[in-house]
Amino acid sequence: MTYLIKGETATWEVVVGLEVHAQVVSQSKLFSGSSTRFGAPANSQVSLVDAAMPGMLPVINGLCVEQAVRTGLGLRAKINKRSIFARKNYFYADLPQGYQISQYEQPIVGEGKVVLDMPDGSSREVGIERLHLEQDAGKSMHDQHPSKSLIDLNRSGVALMEIVSKPDMREPEEAGAYLRKLRSIMRYLGTCDGNMEEGSMRADVNVSVRPIGTTDLRTRCEIKNVNSVRFVMQAIEAEAHRQVEVWESGGEVRQETRLFDPAKGETRSMRSKEHAHDYRYFPDPDLLPLEFDDAFVEKVRRSLPELPDDKKNRFIADFGLTPYDASVLVVDRENAAFFEKVAEGRDGKTAANWVINNLFGALAKAGKGVADSPVSAENLGKLLDLLKDEVINGRIAKDVFEIMMETGEDPDAIVEDKGLRQVTDTSAIEAAVDAVIAANPEKADDVRGGKEKLLGWFVGQVMKATQGKANPAMLNDILRAKLLG
Ligand code: MN
Repeated sequence: MTYLIKGETATWEVVVGLEVHAQVVSQSKLFSGSSTRFGAPANSQVSLVDAAMPGMLPVINGLCVEQAVRTGLGLRAKINKRSIFARKNYFYADLPQGYQISQYEQPIVGEGKVVLDMPDGSSREVGIERLHLEQDAGKSMHDQHPSKSLIDLNRSGVALMEIVSKPDMREPEEAGAYLRKLRSIMRYLGTCDGNMEEGSMRADVNVSVRPIGTTDLRTRCEIKNVNSVRFVMQAIEAEAHRQVEVWESGGEVRQETRLFDPAKGETRSMRSKEHAHDYRYFPDPDLLPLEFDDAFVEKVRRSLPELPDDKKNRFIADFGLTPYDASVLVVDRENAAFFEKVAEGRDGKTAANWVINNLFGALAKAGKGVADSPVSAENLGKLLDLLKDEVINGRIAKDVFEIMMETGEDPDAIVEDKGLRQVTDTSAIEAAVDAVIAANPEKADDVRGGKEKLLGWFVGQVMKATQGKANPAMLNDILRAKLLG
């Protein structure tokens, strides 16, 4: 499972840490009342504070603070009841203040952890170093005019949570699992929509490599602003191989910021450490230290929903699911709720099987989610009851499910309308078996002579003759009795 790179001089392992910028779900910005709605006309959601007009003062948005605390609790992290906003000074045209209001030495959230659900059903832990609140910058557009760059300040001042992991990941797949889990937790909490295409969640990826068996961290490079889970994994792979080549050829990896080019599948240098900014952080004199009490934290804690890890454990305990199935079902809150409705009072494993393999598969094909699923949880449950009560067999159930996906109909009605009830009448099955044997005397003799494999062929023929409705167990018994008994 471990991801290792075989070189000439050593076998290398990869060390990965992630810094995720997650946009806070909030109607208005971190320090002003402007709207945060995505997709509005350029510069239509900009207050005097966001445009950094002289004399304007920031006012903290209490909801954004609550969202950060909520996220911290979801990451099982230490909540710091006193934190400080600091100015991170740098010049850029889309940052009219000339500094970003962020948090530096005393962030709102301290150490925590995220449990990764790996594709093989195992789980691992990744440490969280900190979570701090900061404001976003505006957006520069360099492709709208032949000689000018245009600036859209709608995003200026929008609240971000920067979530910094410890360098605990050792393979691209773990980084992918980490991002998916972080997104899942924040969606449960309602603190970030996790939409990477719209930029509401972006990742900076820190990568270094070291010979396996050594424990010192070597120089790392930071790959900036990667905007999909897949690209993050590809970027790690490309950057790790590049660094191994540098070390193996006797060179030295330089600390720098790099960009990932998905088209070429490689990273390239953006700026080196020599050109790194000195941000001259200092506490923002316009903002008081951010302080709240235990009662506030407790109030937020009590409002948390059941989170993915707890739900997963409950699904394993209550419904007897495998860790893998449980982790697939809890990724999304609506999916989990749908499953629970289907599984309630029924066999959990069968329900998980149908929801994951049949329903999710069919929905993915149709480009739909459970929210607009033609098959309701109630109807899928009814289908499972029909199966369990042996009103229909497994083969017919698949056909009925297909009709349900197309029409949204009740499975009871489909089975009655189309006459799909399973044939459990012994004499009817016997008659069908006799007819097939009579029509195929040589094959029947072959079976009697020891070619038991041919039994399967007879099952198929009788099923065909009964339009798939024969009770499979009864059919098998009767066939065996007639040919081998
Ligand atoms: Mn940041």
